[in-house]
Order: sequence, then C-alpha cells, then structure tokens
Amino acid sequence: MTAKGTLYTVSAPSGAGKTSLVNALLERCEGLQVSVSHTTRPIRPGETDGVNYHFVTEAEFTAMLDQAAFLEHAQVFGNFYGTSQRWVEQQLDAGTDVILEIDWQGAAQVKRLLPETRAIFILPPSRETLEQRLTSRGQDERAIIESRMAEAVQEMSHYIESDFLVINEDFDAALADLVAIITSQRLQTNRQASRLGPLLENLLS
Ligand code: 5GP
Repeated sequence: MTAKGTLYTVSAPSGAGKTSLVNALLERCEGLQVSVSHTTRPIRPGETDGVNYHFVTEAEFTAMLDQAAFLEHAQVFGNFYGTSQRWVEQQLDAGTDVILEIDWQGAAQVKRLLPETRAIFILPPSRETLEQRLTSRGQDERAIIESRMAEAVQEMSHYIESDFLVINEDFDAALADLVAIITSQRLQTNRQASRLGPLLENLLS
C-alpha cells in the first residue's frame, strides 16, 4: 500500500519570494506538487490561467463554495481564493506530497481540518528588504504597495502558528532549508516503513 503524501502549507507576506522558492523546490524534489488555487482576482501580466491560478468569476467561485469544492478558502486583498479539495485528496492518496501556497487564514483552516499538515512560514530578512521587493515588482501602484505593506505585517504576525520558519535572505540557503524540511518528513519512520517494506522484511528475516 502506498503511504499517503504529506500536506504542506507555505505562507508568507507578498514580496517574501514564496512563489519563486516553491517553484525551485518543485524542480528539486520529485513526488511533490503545488496546488493551483481558484481565485476571483484579475489576471496579472505574465500569468496564465490554469498555471498560476484558475481565474474564475465571483459567481463561479460561489457555485464551487455551494458544492463544498474547497478544502479551504479565504478573502485576501478583497479577492476570493480557494483550494480544490478533490485535487488535493487525489494527490495525497496517490502518495504525492502537496504544497498549498496560501495565506494564514487558509493555513489555519487546513491545520484545523488536517492536524498532520506541516505549516511553513517564509519571512523576509528585514522590513526594508520587503519594501524594496514589493516596489521593484513594478506591477502595482504606490497606494497598492503601501496597503500591501500593511497587509504584509498582518500576515507576518501569524508566523507563530507555523511549524517551520524559513528566512529568505539568500535564495539558495532558503531553498536548501525547504528541501531539508521535505527530506526530514520523508525520512520519518512511518513514511519509510511503507516505502521500504521489502528491504525491512529482508533485513529482518
Ligand atoms: P496573489 O494574488 O498575490 O497571488 O496572492 C495573494 C495572497 O493570497 C497570498 O498570500 C497567497 O498565498 C494567497 N492565496 C493564494 N491562493 C490561495 C488559496 O487558495 N487560499 C488562501 N487561503 N490563500 C491563497
């Protein structure tokens, strides 16, 4: 029997480098997938529907909510975001580890529902760096950046609810930390025991 995959939430204030880190992590680790959320937020330049998000209307989002299609959902910056319950379940059942790149509200909902979920929080190395990263994005106006800075502080205040804290000062070091988290979970005896069944049987015979 295949052991179930591990579910991770990765939360961070915007500008902490979460998406780039998660994308690099997916390239480094086999058997790991990221969930593509549904959102009512307008698509940004450079984004692709079905890749970055499933972009839906509020009516479509509400219909999915009514069908209990979301494992968790939240309103962030005035837009709705939700994680497909069925997709996550299918991956975990197949033994694939799953990352949910979601805000603290969603991470708290998932942890309540599935307490074995590992919650990771990524923080920037300083407030100045965070502001610089938000500004250099160039996709949002000043007023939006300022309100996002306030939202970032609000998001960061929830770091205490996570199981792992990663500081993204140096990208490669932060990536190595994330790889270490995934590896340590996979080395746990209960995961190893089902994967290494034949070896253990042979060693103990
Ligand atoms: P953005 O619109 O900038 O991509 O994301 C804004 C915030 O929404 C980020 O903190 C991101 O992690 C969060 N987010 C993205 N997808 C989901 C989701 O499915 N559920 C929840 N709760 N938050 C999400």
